[in-house]
Amino acid sequence: MIITIDGPAGAGKSTAARALAKRLGFEYLDTGAAYRAVAWKVLKEGVNPSEAAAVARVAKEARIEFVQRGDARRVLCDGVDVTSEIRSPQVTTKVWCVADEPEARRALIEQQRKFAVGRNLVTEGRDQGTEVWPEADLKLYLDASPEARAARRLKDLRQFGVEADPEQVRSEIEERDRADRARPVGRLRRTEDMIVIDNTHLTVEEVVCRMAQEVARRRPGVVHGACSRPEGEE
Ligand code: C5P
Repeated sequence: MIITIDGPAGAGKSTAARALAKRLGFEYLDTGAAYRAVAWKVLKEGVNPSEAAAVARVAKEARIEFVQRGDARRVLCDGVDVTSEIRSPQVTTKVWCVADEPEARRALIEQQRKFAVGRNLVTEGRDQGTEVWPEADLKLYLDASPEARAARRLKDLRQFGVEADPEQVRSEIEERDRADRARPVGRLRRTEDMIVIDNTHLTVEEVVCRMAQEVARRRPGVVHGACSRPEGEE
């Protein structure tokens, strides 16, 4: 079974996807981490981010792995643990060079499809339910208000010791939204067959509960155990 979660930056996709996968006993794939790992390698090799062919080469050559170490999931690029570095502001501001390059996207999509072979998967990104898995068993779209997403981004930045201006963070989020929705290949979009969940006022548990209910509707045997209903829902 393939479950896709798409949505804009800071909507909480990774957290929800990880929790849903754990709940279902599925594998989890954070495709943004792969885009970030390639951007990390572009920076490390001193490749010019505007040189499309060079960026595509890096994407094809990068060996990206997801490994479980105890409770933590680590991202490796060419054997180097880059889990933390790929979340740095330096990488975040350069990841466009990978996301906007069609050949680099093709290389990453090929890896994503290989990863899914023989697995039950929860996969999240911008193009999972549209370009990569148009026939997915369940397509979800996770959204939240720009304010809520900016607040999450501020929290992430604090982890890197960066005290950013909230207004600036909000305008950066809006800029990323514009870029994600405008790119010619793999742009972020909502399709009619997606279930939209706005989690501005929901806890992670409530989001996962809603998602699990959608899974149960399609595959009753997959979801075990009850989950408490979000407040106000019948
Ligand atoms: O989700 P995250 O913010 O980690 O993704 C990093 C960047 O990679 C995003 O800004 C987005 O533009 C790009 N991306 C993409 N397609 C995906 C996942 C991420 O273009 N499937």
